[in-house]
Amino acid sequence: MDFSTVHLTPEQEQFQREVRTVLDEIVTEEVHEHERRTGDGFHEGVHLALGSRGWLFPAWPVEEGGAGLDRVSQRILSLELARRQVPGVTHGTTRLVWSGLQLSADPELAAELKPEVAAGRVRFCLGYSDPEGGSDIAAATLRAVRDGDEWVLNGSKLWTTGAHNCQYTFLITRTDPEAPKHKGLTMFLVPLDSPGVEIQAIHTYGGERTNAVYYTDVHVSDRHRVGDVNAGWATLQGPLSNEHGGGRIADGLEDLAGGATYTQSFDRAIDAAARWAKRTTRPDGTLVADDPVFLDRLGALIVSTEASRVTHGPMGRNKASLSSIAGVAELIDLVGPEALLAHGADGAIEDGVIEFAHRWAQGTATYGGTTEVFKGMIAQHVLGLPRLTLPGSKQWVR
Ligand SMILES: Cc1cc2nc3c(=O)[nH]c(=O)nc-3n(C[C@H](O)[C@H](O)[C@H](O)COP(=O)(O)OP(=O)(O)OC[C@H]3O[C@@H](n4cnc5c(N)ncnc54)[C@H](O)[C@@H]3O)c2cc1C
Repeated sequence: MDFSTVHLTPEQEQFQREVRTVLDEIVTEEVHEHERRTGDGFHEGVHLALGSRGWLFPAWPVEEGGAGLDRVSQRILSLELARRQVPGVTHGTTRLVWSGLQLSADPELAAELKPEVAAGRVRFCLGYSDPEGGSDIAAATLRAVRDGDEWVLNGSKLWTTGAHNCQYTFLITRTDPEAPKHKGLTMFLVPLDSPGVEIQAIHTYGGERTNAVYYTDVHVSDRHRVGDVNAGWATLQGPLSNEHGGGRIADGLEDLAGGATYTQSFDRAIDAAARWAKRTTRPDGTLVADDPVFLDRLGALIVSTEASRVTHGPMGRNKASLSSIAGVAELIDLVGPEALLAHGADGAIEDGVIEFAHRWAQGTATYGGTTEVFKGMIAQHVLGLPRLTLPGSKQWVR
């Protein structure tokens, strides 16, 4: 592993200043308030502003709607976006879907969509999870039946995050119910304004908004099929692998851990607890920050979150999630009841950052495949142990 410092060129330093100036302008308190209120993981104004600079797909050439950034500048941009807590869920799902479209979509459709995607006007969400279960994606039941040049869709999907802010969903459907389950699937890019699509909000304990989406006699042109008929499982492998942390460029400029973003709220909660300890005295008049037991326990949490960040791949995904869940609970124990005061409550620590981290951490055990499913992947694909005979077919591709 290369731990050497990355030295920025004058151009890269200038770019970093430019990014900070732009984000100062566009990531206002209103953006954070909107995110707290909606849990959308998306802000249209910010998304379009990033798109107008080519910063949604910054590696793409300028003439294709990107910014033609070098790898270090791409990393500068992603670190600054994370530091400013720019809502990025829909940006993330759009990137995942694009990785599948560029390989398998109708080339004319992809060419039409590309400038719109780069500008931020077209966005994609993931229509994978069935109401009956999300771990075993290949058991998808939503039916697609061919009707001339069209397909007719009937069924529903659960947890389609961002559907209400996207133009298309990347939908896994069952086209041959007689075939073995992995061989009867087909992917579509379904326009979400099609008649027969109904989106219903689901608000989670963690504060996110996701959706149930119902499809009743929805007609989709064959042009919107992605990949071959009944080859949906193969079409899905690229985006699924990317979601699980595959496809990273091993140049030291990417997050190592599959779940690096899962610790962000926990990290902010730790920082808030440290500042709280420096300004808070106990009934005996001693400063909390002078208490060696407090420092020892806080230090252990910092080590744990740091360790998640440098734990590679699927192990990092699980460590980030599990250490955040246990860690925030420990932080609440350390700080006391004040830590449970939510945003807006009198006396909430730094606007409820610890309370939020606690709620948010719980969901990280589920996103993109549960920690239990990932344990199976680690056993099979990292340790080379035999495949579990349990349901669940998410895959880790190294
Ligand atoms: C806030 C939120 C946002 C989401 N966003 C999206 C999205 O945008 N698009 C989308 O398609 N999905 C999305 N999901 C769905 C998510 O991917 C699934 O919830 C997840 O894959 C688990 O599926 P499930 O909840 O149906 O649980 P199930 O698959 O029904 O599993 C139930 C339990 O069984 C365990 N289990 C299942 N299979 C195995 C196995 N093989 N080995 C060990 N244990 C197993 C699971 O760990 C779990 O505890 C989202 C979910 C949430 C909560």
